[in-house]
Amino acid sequence: MAAVTGTASRGAAAGYAVTAACAGCGACLLTCPEHAIRPSHEGGLVVLDALCSRCGECVEVCPVDAVVEVRS
Ligand code: SF4
Ligand code: SF4
Repeated sequence: MAAVTGTASRGAAAGYAVTAACAGCGACLLTCPEHAIRPSHEGGLVVLDALCSRCGECVEVCPVDAVVEVRS
């Protein structure tokens, strides 16, 4: 099971996830260069791992630190 941490270090994560802390501002969707962040069927947002380039921009722009790194 992958561990979720809030530690930001660009480019080093195994993946990214959006937590329930998301305020729905949309900044990460607009910023993601790969369009990897999408609305999920359950509400909230999901990071499509196959599209994510691990650039870390979503972590940088989120005003409430709701985007977290997922480390394997
Ligand atoms: S790390 Fe970069 S490519 Fe991946 S979801 Fe965040 S902004 Fe998009
Ligand atoms: S930037 Fe943060 S608060 Fe805004 S939509 Fe993305 S995860 Fe939610």
